[in-house]
Amino acid sequence: MLSRAAAAAGEVVKGGRGTGMTHAWLFTGPPGSGREEAARAFAASLMCPDGGCGHCDQCHQVLIGSHPDLEAVRPQGLSYSVKQTRELILRAAGAPTQGRWRVILFEDADRATESAANALLKAIEEPPPRTVWLLCAPAPDDLMITIRSRCRVVNLTNPGTEAVAHVLATRDNVPWETATFAARAAQGHVSRARALALDEDVRRRREAVLSIPRSLTGVGECVFAAERLVKTAEEEAAAATALLNESETSDLRKLYGEGSTGKGLNRGLVRGGAGALKELEDRQKSRATRIKRDSLDSALLELVSFYRDVLAMQFGAGVELANDDIRFDLDQLARASTPEETVRRIDAIMQCRERLGANVNPQIAVEAMMLALRP
Ligand SMILES: [Zn+2]
Repeated sequence: MLSRAAAAAGEVVKGGRGTGMTHAWLFTGPPGSGREEAARAFAASLMCPDGGCGHCDQCHQVLIGSHPDLEAVRPQGLSYSVKQTRELILRAAGAPTQGRWRVILFEDADRATESAANALLKAIEEPPPRTVWLLCAPAPDDLMITIRSRCRVVNLTNPGTEAVAHVLATRDNVPWETATFAARAAQGHVSRARALALDEDVRRRREAVLSIPRSLTGVGECVFAAERLVKTAEEEAAAATALLNESETSDLRKLYGEGSTGKGLNRGLVRGGAGALKELEDRQKSRATRIKRDSLDSALLELVSFYRDVLAMQFGAGVELANDDIRFDLDQLARASTPEETVRRIDAIMQCRERLGANVNPQIAVEAMMLALRP
């Protein structure tokens, strides 16, 4: 799937070499469909003298992220600020140092604030002749129509269970049974499937989330389940950011001369350092918020998959169950409730996701959801 997208894109490049190259591309697909990887493979095909062979220096540098003419950016906090975007646009205007193109890989383009998106639009409307923008987003609708209409859209879909299991088994040497379990549970989300197959903590967290429905026997249990879910998301975010924060902060301190003897230390620089440190801390804080929100959201999606399986059983639909390993729990709830109740529960989870997106206090939103899930 992935290589197909890159190959198709590569053909377009070869065909259009020199003549009217499209300067803005939009790679869309649900989480886990590999849109960033496809965009990166496409970038390699632009840099590689051979249209993306995957082996040469150019390809290699693009794939590991060290190519001087490729800049991959993601939002620093919850979203792209207009400041971050403007700085990027200035850098994007520079000429390529090596090959024909300077490529900007703009991940999560749907997270651009309105003013950042407007700045981006201007850059795409009048692109420097040697700059190519590769935007990534879940769906074309996630971007303003004025941006979308100027992009060539490459749409990816999630691969099936069999294909994902095959990748895990052949590339990561995962035993076939674990590979199918992980692929099925991840519902086509490749990196999620890999994490499930290789990381026991991830499997444990999934089990904890899927055990929630049967634990909701009373109001107290609902409050407790909400507390635990929010706390787990916080711990996950803390673990994911701790190392990163530490090295960023020490880099910045070094940059501003901390640790030197103070001799010849420029006071102005030190004052500037305090400001920069404050800015970095703010950025790190909003990054932690984003990771926490993402982690909570993926737990909620897991719960959705639980109730969707229940619904499938209630309707006797012969579809593949995402959570086949807990078939007993699914079956019990399927018998003890009606399809209408199941649909209402799925709605409650989706509503919780929306409220979290609108910055409602997580504990309050999740608690309300748990109460709605209670039998
Ligand atoms: Zn190459």
